[in-house]
Amino acid sequence: MHRRLKYGICQFIGRKDKVAQLIASRQQFVQQLPDPATVLPGSWLSRRVHCNKAGCRFCEKGKGKGHGPIWILSVSLGNRRVRQIPIPSQRKQAVEESLRAFARMQKLLKQIAPVNLDRLKERKRQRP
Ligand SMILES: [Zn+2]
Repeated sequence: MHRRLKYGICQFIGRKDKVAQLIASRQQFVQQLPDPATVLPGSWLSRRVHCNKAGCRFCEKGKGKGHGPIWILSVSLGNRRVRQIPIPSQRKQAVEESLRAFARMQKLLKQIAPVNLDRLKERKRQRP
């Protein structure tokens, strides 16, 4: 009886530490979350375009590289559908930051979710 009680207390303290650790690590991830209002999904494509105007030095047959590159944001919509949105060069940096924010958000959510799963398990153990 006495031994059993002692063991129970040890286990309780261990559990409390684990929960505190989980909450602390989750808090670190939460603080790193970017502003969700800025996020954009997708990836970059770049393309050169040929205007086909006679005498254009960029599009000269066999020599010209064409105009550009133009930057296109490619977004998967599921079911193999893809949306491609041309991005003007003056917006490229802002879009790039939004892509990074999206990736960071996803990475952090993937780190936060398992902590919450562990918390569920811990709670279940506290109330058998
Ligand atoms: Zn041209």
